[in-house]
Amino acid sequence: MTKKQFQTESKRILELMVHSIYTHKDIFLRELISNASDAIDKMYYRALSDESIEFNKDDYFVKIELDKEARTITIRDTGIGMTEEELESNLGIIAKSGSLAMKQATKMEEDHSLIGQFGVGFYSAFMVADRVTVRTRSIDSGQGYVWESEGTDGYSIEPTDKADIGTEITLHLKADTEDDAYSSFLEEYEIRSLIKKHSDFIRYPIKLDVTKHRQKEDSEEYEDYKEEETVNSMVPIWRKRKSELTDEDYKSFYHEKRYGFDEPLKHIHLNVDGTIRYQSILYIPSTVPFDYYTKEFEKGLELYSNGVLIMEKSPDLLPDYFGFVKGMVDSEDLSLNISREMLQQDRQLRVIAKNVKSKIKGMLEKMLQNEREDYEKFYESFGRQLKFGVYDQFGAAKDELKDLILFHSSHEKKLVSFQEYVERMKEDQKYIYYATGESIHRIDLLPQAERLKEEGYEILYFTEEIDEFAIKMLQSYDDKEFKSIASGDLGLDDAEAKSLNEDNQDLFAFMKQELGDRVKEVRASTRLKSHPVCLTVAGDVSIEMEKILNTMPN
Ligand code: ADP
Ligand code: MG
Repeated sequence: MTKKQFQTESKRILELMVHSIYTHKDIFLRELISNASDAIDKMYYRALSDESIEFNKDDYFVKIELDKEARTITIRDTGIGMTEEELESNLGIIAKSGSLAMKQATKMEEDHSLIGQFGVGFYSAFMVADRVTVRTRSIDSGQGYVWESEGTDGYSIEPTDKADIGTEITLHLKADTEDDAYSSFLEEYEIRSLIKKHSDFIRYPIKLDVTKHRQKEDSEEYEDYKEEETVNSMVPIWRKRKSELTDEDYKSFYHEKRYGFDEPLKHIHLNVDGTIRYQSILYIPSTVPFDYYTKEFEKGLELYSNGVLIMEKSPDLLPDYFGFVKGMVDSEDLSLNISREMLQQDRQLRVIAKNVKSKIKGMLEKMLQNEREDYEKFYESFGRQLKFGVYDQFGAAKDELKDLILFHSSHEKKLVSFQEYVERMKEDQKYIYYATGESIHRIDLLPQAERLKEEGYEILYFTEEIDEFAIKMLQSYDDKEFKSIASGDLGLDDAEAKSLNEDNQDLFAFMKQELGDRVKEVRASTRLKSHPVCLTVAGDVSIEMEKILNTMPN
């Protein structure tokens, strides 16, 4: 038997696979099942164009067989199969674009999720097996072939008898290490749960013989027997019509997928048919994940390529400020092959991400308009994130977010939006007034607020550190500038103060002289009612902001 060598690049990748130390060995099953599903797809397309082939859906399935004695897992499909040449070129050479493959292969050590994306899926079998046998017969060949390899030392291809068209891949599991890493793959429940986890939405049945228990006929005794079961549910919820689904369905999907342990506050189900087609279900959680405002939190959506989960958390699909959103995206149009340019993949993801972003924004705006109570509940949990979003990256997203931001205000002590504030502004009012302080109560006691409130000017209450920083990014809303009530000039008509200042020139000069550098100026003000004196700020930085800035490391 002649043994052929893998091409150099394939060999490198194989070595990485064989010696891979990641905990995610279980992805091999997903990869082999998705290859099987692809092969059935190919059969289906062939049948569409070739009238001599009858595609009877029931004949097409994937079957997983476990053999504890022999320590093997077999993945059998009724797909299109491979010819001798195809075995050679598909399993002997890893990817067409060699250099790109190499680059990705080095990355793979860090990120298991890349394996499935770059056309090296088959080789993941070597993470759990020390020998892999592929028996296959192509629809284009009367003869079957068997391919076998023990990893990096090469592979062999020989003719074999195989009656049916399709492929059968047998993994001879590696010997167990101390932590029993491989034997678990021979357990029905383990395989079952892996199929459920990664391949539930594969469109063809994935069958497994499941051990059951029954009472023997005319006897008290029980016996075990095997029954073939289809493990996957086949139709993903996101492919179903919205009209077929209830709120309960969306909720149980949220829990099934462990997006969160809470009840989702809102969801949207998207079926986008634009330049790039995709389906998506997005959720807003009702409570803040415990690690949300920490460095440990990882944002991201599940990413599926045509029903196959390829990434559990794709961070590129969400901007940081919508990092609280949970859910998934599935697209038939994602080209995740190593042979295509990375750029193209990035572009497709970017298009989807942009679209997802605007859908989330739309969902929040609608909620703000029509379901105020829910929105305020959401805002209590994640409003801070939105304000960070306004401030972040020099305000790059401020225009997207400014209408989603709310503040408490002196107007009926409620949360208000900038738009609501501006609509209520008095005719002569030039500025949007805000006050900073530790709490609403403390702000209410500020001497600076007295006159404004008495004359019916609304004041926004800034009680979080981020508030004033965010506002500095915005600078204005609807051409109205933001003004701290602690600033020197409130833009009010102040003839009275002017004459007071003139009449008391000498007194104020004396006070300034006594206070020295501690103040810039002493002057009369009409903003106070019951308090004799208050501090104001000349520049752009409020006293609160100055306190925060002083605590920051330089
Ligand atoms: P990818 O699936 O991304 O192309 P893989 O390494 O998973 O990369 O598989 C390589 C190739 O081997 C596939 O493109 C396909 O042509 C062939 N192949 C793998 N498994 C099967 C199968 N079960 N039936 C038919 N062809 C297969
Ligand atoms: Mg594959």
